Parts: sequence; C-alpha cells; structure tokens
Amino acid sequence: MRCRMPWLAIVGSFSVNGVAELHSNLLAQGLFRDFFEMWPEKFNNKTNGVTPRRWLAAANPQLAEPITETVGDGWHADLSRLERLKDAVGDAGFAGCWNSIRRANKERLAGLVAHYTGVKFNPGALFDVQVKRIHEYKRQLLNVLHVVHLYNRIHRGETDGWVDRCVLIGGKAAPGYIRAKEIIKLINNVAAVVNSDPVVGDRLKVAFIPNYNVSKMEVICSAADLSEQISTAGKEASGTGNMKFMMNGAVTIGTYDSANIEIMQAVGEDNFFLFGLHADEVLELRNHYRPQQYIDQDDDLRGVLQLLEAGHFNAEEPGIFDGILDSLKSPHDPWMTLADFRSYVDAQQRVEQAWLDREQWTRMSILNTTSSGVFSTDRTIAEYNDDIWRLQPME
Ligand SMILES: *Cc1c(COP(=O)(O)O)cnc(C)c1O
Repeated sequence: MRCRMPWLAIVGSFSVNGVAELHSNLLAQGLFRDFFEMWPEKFNNKTNGVTPRRWLAAANPQLAEPITETVGDGWHADLSRLERLKDAVGDAGFAGCWNSIRRANKERLAGLVAHYTGVKFNPGALFDVQVKRIHEYKRQLLNVLHVVHLYNRIHRGETDGWVDRCVLIGGKAAPGYIRAKEIIKLINNVAAVVNSDPVVGDRLKVAFIPNYNVSKMEVICSAADLSEQISTAGKEASGTGNMKFMMNGAVTIGTYDSANIEIMQAVGEDNFFLFGLHADEVLELRNHYRPQQYIDQDDDLRGVLQLLEAGHFNAEEPGIFDGILDSLKSPHDPWMTLADFRSYVDAQQRVEQAWLDREQWTRMSILNTTSSGVFSTDRTIAEYNDDIWRLQPME
C-alpha cells in the first residue's frame, strides 16, 4: 500500500502554507494545484525567520553593542527597529566601527578554520561562505566549479585587480547519500591542491569545515562577507542560513529562489548579487537541456571541466569523480548546474568589483543588517498567530 502523506496532511488540515512566497506559490500552482482549486482559502504563505536573540545578540555581541547604542534596546523584541540604523549608513565613524568589528569576527573565524582544518585564512581577504546540508539541489558543485575557475585564472595569469578570497564550505551529508559524500570528497581534494600550490599563494584558500552545526554557524555567520545561496531556482523552500548571514552584514550571491527573493526585495537589487535561471525557465529548459552546448560555448567552463576530467584533483585516485562529472554533463541533470555557470561567474566578477570599493561594500553590508528586520521569527510567529492560531499574547 502507498500512502501520500502530503495529500493526507492537506485534507486533514485547517491551513496549509509554504515557507517563502515563491514556495507557497509553487505549491498552490504546481504540486498541490488540485487541492488549491478545491480549497483556495486553505492556502497561505508564512515566510520563515530566525531569532535575533540567538543569531545577532548571542552570536555577534560585538556588533550588537553599536546597534543598541544607535537604535536603542528594543530591537531584540522588535527587529524592524534596525531600520533606524539606516541613518548611520553614511557616517564614517560608524562605518569604521562596523569594519573593525567585522575584522575581529573574521579573525575569530580564521582561528576556528585553522583549528579544524589547518588551513590559514587571511582576515583581509573576502570570506566567501557556503554552509548548509550537502545536497545536489543546493549546488555546492557550482561553487566548486567557480573555485576551479579561479584556480585556472591564477595559472593563466589573469590576476589584474585580483581579489584574495577564502572559500569556506561546510555541511553534513545524510548517511546513505553517496553522491553528497562524493561532493565533500571533491571539495577536500580541490582544497588540498589549491592550498598547497605556491603559484596560488594567498590569492585563494579553500576549506571544508567538518561537523557543521549551530555553534559553528554562530562564528561563521558573524564573519562571512559573501553568503552563497545558489540552489537551482524552485528547489529551495525558504532557507534560513541566508537570513542569519544577512542579519550579520553579509552580502548575498544568490539565485531567484527561496527567501532569497524576499531578501533581495528588502535590501534592494543593488545590494544583492542575483544570477541564474528563474524557476519557470528551469521548468521550460528541462524539455531540451543540452549541457554540451554550454561547454562548447564557454572557454572557462571547458577549462574547468578539462582539469577535473584530467584527474588533476585526484591523481592518486583515478576515476573517483567520474560519477559527479557524468551527472553534470547529463541532459537529465535535474539541477542544471552547467546552465547557470556563466551567469554565476559573471555575478562573482561583480562581487569582486564591489569588494574593491571598500566604502561601497561597507554600505552594502550595513544595509543588509538594517533591512533584515522582516526575517525575525517574531514576525513569522505573529503571522501564524494572526492568521491561524488566534491566541491571546500573554502580558
Ligand atoms: C541555519 C542552519 C541550517 C539551514 O541552512 P540553509 O542554508 O537554510 O539550508 C542548517 N544547519 C545549521 C547548523 C544551521 O545553523
């Protein structure tokens, strides 16, 4: 016997919601369309949040202090008050304070990375971070392709206006998810080659941090410059890592997916690095996806795949990444990683441009924090209560 649990849940429920606007719309228009047509009033949206008590006040007390000085105490229970920080965006004194706190947090994270991996991150470099469960839809592989592309650029001498970058990847794989474990192995192998190459030097460092958990995330999210939220559009329900990073002043590079869309709306398109296919384009492309086309048209992508296929990162373990490489080049690759490669690399170049203008980057960083109020769990829970539970708040 087969039991369709989501259908049963919808029939038995008073209210049904996705956890970000896009996700709620995809449920109503796609997966559960029949139910939506029958009971439209059941369906609604409740965008996730994260608690500012843990993810700002406790994780980043250094940054919480000048925030309290500027906007007062109330933000712990009313995160929309962070908006008041906007007045301080142009203030050189505040920007200097912001940067010195971020610098100290980056030194703290560099210590954690060195302790667990032995890799030395230079706190002056751009900290480029992707931490989340390892899954093909989250596309840690796209991140790795970009790292290999940077490695190729260094070896080709294309280093004018170079931005030193420390790439941190972390996350657990489900015990039976072999491909996810292969992805971790690939990240570690690429890191070993890149980090020991004297030609690369300090320009690029790569580390995979083991046993990713919330305690590590407290240190990580308060020190990240760039938050990688690069899932195949339509596949990530909401994400909450994206919110923790934003709240602590990281700038997002992301697809038009999940709560990324709402993050971009809150902070403004100028302060978000958007790239890639949209969910409807992913659906449409499924019918005629030909990865080889992207390879033929893109020298950079071809260079990256050639290096991987030559076994450059697995000289002593021939063939171990063949499964990954075959999946990337398959017309049936559900995650369409190669389709977004060019757009991702171009967005990363915009990141480099922005990073080189330190004043602009600091502005973007502060604006991410000031615009993160809507991603407090207090707002989420208030919506659940107003629309669904109808409980009286306790005094
Ligand atoms: C926030 C968090 C997640 C969720 O991360 P996403 O990027 O939203 O997938 C997973 N694990 C830990 C330890 C976290 O702190």
